[in-house]
Amino acid sequence: MSEPTQAELVARAPEVFTPNYQPAPLVLDRGEGVHVFDLEGRRYLDMVSGIAVSALGHGHPRLVAAIAEQAAKILHTSNLYYNAPSIRLAERLTAACFADRVFFSNSGAEANEAAIKLARKRAHDRGESERVEVLSFTGSFHGRTLGALSATAQPKYHEGFRPIVPGFVYAPLGDLAAVEALTGPRTAAIIVEPIQGEGGVCVPPAGFLAALRARCDEIGALLIFDEVQTGMGRTGAMFAHQHEGVSPDIMSVAKAIGGGLPLGAMLATAEVAASLSYGSHATTYGGNPVACAAGLVVLDVLEGPGFLDGVRARGEQLIGGLRAISDRTGIFSEVRGRGLLVGAELAADRAFGASNLVAACRERGVLVHVAGPRVLRIAPPLIVDAAAVGEALGVVEDAAKSLG
Ligand code: PLP
Repeated sequence: MSEPTQAELVARAPEVFTPNYQPAPLVLDRGEGVHVFDLEGRRYLDMVSGIAVSALGHGHPRLVAAIAEQAAKILHTSNLYYNAPSIRLAERLTAACFADRVFFSNSGAEANEAAIKLARKRAHDRGESERVEVLSFTGSFHGRTLGALSATAQPKYHEGFRPIVPGFVYAPLGDLAAVEALTGPRTAAIIVEPIQGEGGVCVPPAGFLAALRARCDEIGALLIFDEVQTGMGRTGAMFAHQHEGVSPDIMSVAKAIGGGLPLGAMLATAEVAASLSYGSHATTYGGNPVACAAGLVVLDVLEGPGFLDGVRARGEQLIGGLRAISDRTGIFSEVRGRGLLVGAELAADRAFGASNLVAACRERGVLVHVAGPRVLRIAPPLIVDAAAVGEALGVVEDAAKSLG
């Protein structure tokens, strides 16, 4: 029997999957560097990296070798026993930031669940039984599990799933007066993305993270940075908050940390992490040795000489190039972001949406994504070079012109 074609597989998928995704009609078959290939062999320049995951691109030889080597040794240990890659990765992560302790999860949502639980547990351990609230920001995205969803201050994601978890309050991003009004002795934590990703690549005003730090210190609450999308070099620093010189008490990381394997982590200071006492939290797969072996290679590459300088340079090229396109065509009202997490908001006079621009780019062989209905999101592999960024910019301009 012959293998099914791409069109046949695409037609079969809705018969077997729950309908909560709407993928492009492509079956990706393999990848090489910054390119992916569909089942028909058509090549695409990947400027989305599986939503900010494939930081080292596709088929990175060291990553593939480390995964194969670890898979041949042992695939899974559970947390009943130690495994060396997870200990080594935790050591490397804590050496790279404010944190002393790591809890490994399998996704971003789970890392945030751990962060929220830890914040409440710490207050509980200190005898502050009223300190249960978590403040988050309008437009945020923290994941789809119920706790993380409740922290996600976008009503469209709550629709149909209420009641959400009690104890979450929301302030507009950048509004310190609202933060002050909504926080106090009941606040366990403030959770914030240093740059909102899904919410439209929104950068908080300068000094906002520092002001949140000060407010948390003032009221005895914890500060959680959700670096699921912004972490692991994405913005040109290992973690985005490091640009600001402000440290949280807890940080969640996922996406790029496993180089494409499912891995997340919650990191915390030793003093705070102590509340995640024996038996208080767990996940069967956490610290999977294959995912952690991949994470070690990701960190090696990111920490290599000049690597993050390259991310910043490519980011400036991308943001500058998109602004130049906008000057020529008037297509974007704003281009924002940092490093290789970039959003371009469509001007109000454009009759089409960001998904139309994504489709037009795809027809021209470049994969990009949206961040909300009016924002084009570009988040290529961090290994992308200047020529590939230039090619993508040419395609975005051509696609934009085709839509008018
Ligand atoms: N937090 C942020 C900032 C994210 O961007 C995402 C996913 O896009 C998540 C959490 C949820 O991560 P996951 O989809 O791995 O559960």
